[in-house]
Amino acid sequence: MHLSLRSLQNAHEHVEKQFAPSLLPVAEGESFRIVSPITLSFDIDRQETGRYRLAGRVKGEIEVPCSRCLEPYALAVASDFDLRYVPHVENLGEGEQEVEEDDLTTAFYANDQIELDHLVMEQLHLALPMKPLCSAACQGLCPQCGANRNSTVCACDQKWEDPRLAALKALKTSKK
Ligand SMILES: [Zn+2]
Ligand SMILES: [Zn+2]
Repeated sequence: MHLSLRSLQNAHEHVEKQFAPSLLPVAEGESFRIVSPITLSFDIDRQETGRYRLAGRVKGEIEVPCSRCLEPYALAVASDFDLRYVPHVENLGEGEQEVEEDDLTTAFYANDQIELDHLVMEQLHLALPMKPLCSAACQGLCPQCGANRNSTVCACDQKWEDPRLAALKALKTSKK
């Protein structure tokens, strides 16, 4: 979905859009799934020489795998952004390009259009937790048989022994 900059009537406007899951470009092997509509709302300000400032929020629910039990679960996400869009310039000098790429608050547009779906996907990535957990009490997987301990009681010996301690014990036993 694009935002046509030519269609803006005023130097300052408020924009709100909803994205159905099928409208967002989720790459294969992506670490999350979009299962319900994502809301994008922002203020856009036209600045000097073709620059635009977009400040707002991406909000919705995505499905991510729990980092402990690997089961997908619904995660509410909200990500605030404050971005500068500048016209994409072809054939930038190498040094110049590097500076722009390092700057996470600067994005590019071309053909008088801002690609809102890319904006949304980027914000969803930024909103992902480092270690998503289906619940704080998630029991995770059994390290021995791989069963999901939230739903299965396996017969494995759950007593965990520090391998260093075990090595020490073995040493003591052999000395006897
Ligand atoms: Zn879990
Ligand atoms: Zn087990």
